[in-house]
Amino acid sequence: MGPGRTGGTGNQPGPSLLDQAVAGKIPGVITTSTEKLFAMARKSSLWTLSFGLACCAIEMMSTYMAHYDFDRFGVVTWPSPRQSDVMIVSGTVVKKMADPIRLLYEQMPEPKWVIAMGSCATNGGPYYRSYSVVMGVDHIVPVDVYVPGCPPRPEALLYGFLKLQEKIMRDAGN
Ligand code: SF4
Repeated sequence: MGPGRTGGTGNQPGPSLLDQAVAGKIPGVITTSTEKLFAMARKSSLWTLSFGLACCAIEMMSTYMAHYDFDRFGVVTWPSPRQSDVMIVSGTVVKKMADPIRLLYEQMPEPKWVIAMGSCATNGGPYYRSYSVVMGVDHIVPVDVYVPGCPPRPEALLYGFLKLQEKIMRDAGN
């Protein structure tokens, strides 16, 4: 009958293997939806588009280095939008960069996410109401996570990624 299986009585059949698996009665077997399975894979392998706009980019780069080791969260920087999942907007978004940023975003495949890193990317920061700066990158592309600070430390960016991973799982119904 196999480990964890129980028989029925009389004309009543025993519970099916699927019923027992869903009830967690078969050791070593888990059940989940494909949405959650794909979300687990996606959140554990986030490739970020490599580009930086200003001083926040230095903090972003140091997050990839050995001391913080972004790679342990499955975060890998990638020099092409065609295979990237996440855009980190790290720095001041000047108006002449608005169209290139939008173009890069549109070249990324679905599903994709955006992190606004620092006050400049969030709302213009120290350049609030400047003639040449966009008042937040959410005027150009949809933002999933905002990381505050001027500049945010690498720990803050790491925390932003943990929040993004939570959001990916939540959107999959968990
Ligand atoms: S938020 Fe501060 S550190 Fe980041 S790009 Fe703007 S001015 Fe530089």
